[in-house]
Amino acid sequence: MAGEPQDDCLFCKIIAGHVPATIVRETETTVAFRDINPQAPTHVLVIPRAHYPNAAELAAAAPELAADVLHETKAVADEEKLDSYRVVFNTGPGAGQTVFHAHAHVLGGRGLQWPPG
Ligand code: C5P
Repeated sequence: MAGEPQDDCLFCKIIAGHVPATIVRETETTVAFRDINPQAPTHVLVIPRAHYPNAAELAAAAPELAADVLHETKAVADEEKLDSYRVVFNTGPGAGQTVFHAHAHVLGGRGLQWPPG
């Protein structure tokens, strides 16, 4: 069923506490943790507790939960004292998505170029 935890999903395992992660914030509906391979001084992932394979499916099936994720990106930026930062949802392999549980990257703490690669 949509949103149910998936046995083969790495981020579902992090939510369940079966894979370690440096968690920085938790809410009833979301978890935020430091990316294991940071691309900026601050690189935090915000994920919904419910499993959706990507941001498009999350937005379509559970828009209030998508809003919770976006709300948490701001909370992370505030906690990290970021004036400028970037929020990225890689959606689909062609855009660089490698983990198929919707997640927002929050990147900051250095200058960021535009356009991205
Ligand atoms: O957008 P994409 O799917 O590529 O992002 C997945 C992110 O999950 C990567 O930045 C990767 O470093 C991160 N990751 C992590 N902890 C893991 C496995 C992957 O933070 N155990």
